[in-house]
Amino acid sequence: MTYICGPDWDRRVVDIELKENSAIIMSGGIDSLVLYNILQDVDIINIVRKDGFDSGPFPRGKSVISVKEVTTDHRFRIQRTLLHIKDKLNYEYIYTGINLAPPTEYFSEFDTDSRPYRPWKITEDWVKAPFLHLYKYHIIDLARMLNIDISNAQSCLMQLNGHCGECWQCKEKKWGYNQLSIDI
Ligand SMILES: [Zn+2]
Repeated sequence: MTYICGPDWDRRVVDIELKENSAIIMSGGIDSLVLYNILQDVDIINIVRKDGFDSGPFPRGKSVISVKEVTTDHRFRIQRTLLHIKDKLNYEYIYTGINLAPPTEYFSEFDTDSRPYRPWKITEDWVKAPFLHLYKYHIIDLARMLNIDISNAQSCLMQLNGHCGECWQCKEKKWGYNQLSIDI
């Protein structure tokens, strides 16, 4: 399926190829929740983080495969865990909702040590990251277009329930809505 999303000044095309025997890495945040709702019939893998910030409102009635995180270093967390999963589980594709961090040349408030590493490109053909070239606001807009409820998504990495409004992830979420001229 092909979707076009984003504000008038930054429309982007998203291609999502569905494949049987696939899984998605879900964190509880907006990105993986939206991607899961588009894919639907995929297994859910949850990377159990050592800091406890690993779970959100997973879809009811779906079993979740828990995989311990391989590293706490945010630069390598996704890649190393993906390789670990690939070794242990036999899936055709593994999907991730990973996307672009706000550009720090324009939004210097995001240039901090908490900034998560987001790869520019993924070369493994078994890893599908259809949101890799999107910003948070494209994903929020996609949810809006497809009527996907993201109100219970847990983005904050400071508190397990609710949002502190101050951490990098909370600021990114607020930024995403602001770019769409939506107040939260
Ligand atoms: Zn927060």
